[in-house]
Amino acid sequence: MAQISWLADVLRGAGVEVVEEGDWLNRGATSGGGAFEPIGVLWHHTAGSTTSPDNPHPSLEICINGRSDLPGPLCQALVDYNGVFHLISANRANHAGASGGSGPIPAGDGNTLMVGWEIDYNGVDQEMSQAQYDASIAATAAVIRQLGTDASYVRGHRETSTTGKIDPYAIDLDAMRADVAAALGA
Ligand SMILES: [Zn+2]
Repeated sequence: MAQISWLADVLRGAGVEVVEEGDWLNRGATSGGGAFEPIGVLWHHTAGSTTSPDNPHPSLEICINGRSDLPGPLCQALVDYNGVFHLISANRANHAGASGGSGPIPAGDGNTLMVGWEIDYNGVDQEMSQAQYDASIAATAAVIRQLGTDASYVRGHRETSTTGKIDPYAIDLDAMRADVAAALGA
């Protein structure tokens, strides 16, 4: 099983603020025995409580520990309201479920194929903050460069989901990919 132990250094190298949450290097989803061989990055929103500058990451604990119906970790990193990346797992995480195939991402086990960001906003009457968007673009480009693929390997959960997921809410994913491509070219 691959491990993306380089994640903290790669994100800091891209100018992204990072918090390493506990034993993130050894935390991982073991259920199902699946592999972790990522080729792309998947964007999500948490659909948790409304975030703000003073309450930037209310979904952090659930992303680390999981829910009654889904064991954690639920992503490789949570992106808080202020654009800080909280590293939760360098290993396989339960964020993607099955991939139906999207762009160059094949159908299959999404948790094997993709690194997941849970961007913490409610997705009902709240959109991604500018700080979250800017940090997510910078981090995604840095990870894609490390993986050796390209911006087409960045998807939204609503593109790969086989169960009708709507996240990330209020993001034009083609524009997002263009911004990642521009960051890769810079
Ligand atoms: Zn999702």
